Amino acid sequence: MAYSYDDQNIFAKILRGEIPNNTVLETEHTLAFRDIAPKAPEHVLVIPKGAYVSFDHFCNAASDAEILDFHRTAGRICTALGVEPGEGGDGYRAITNAGENGVQEVPHFHLHILAGRPLGPMVV
Ligand code: 5GP
Repeated sequence: MAYSYDDQNIFAKILRGEIPNNTVLETEHTLAFRDIAPKAPEHVLVIPKGAYVSFDHFCNAASDAEILDFHRTAGRICTALGVEPGEGGDGYRAITNAGENGVQEVPHFHLHILAGRPLGPMVV
């Protein structure tokens, strides 16, 4: 599968420093920052620094180091937000949208971490 990556997408511009962001955590391969239009009291986007369009692209093409770093960073975000269920937190939702049917707005793979209020049943 050949993936086509648009390097003019907004997250590519954030990664290049062309657009400011509210960074929560940055590692060698991953950046986590606050969503500009939060849908919950806590709404953090976790993105790989590499040019991956979607979750499947990332999982199929990224190196083990990138995949490990991404997931560790997502875990650290949950810890930093204090939302881990069973660890005193009230839980969260981690979702990713892909493509047209997934209603993906920004074509750079990202994980939404939403927390801070009851999020209701997942709506599809
Ligand atoms: P998607 O629909 O692609 O899964 O989600 C894209 C998310 O990116 C949306 O929640 C939207 O609010 C967020 N977003 C769009 N533009 C910007 C931006 O310039 N900065 C930040 N921090 N978030 C953005």
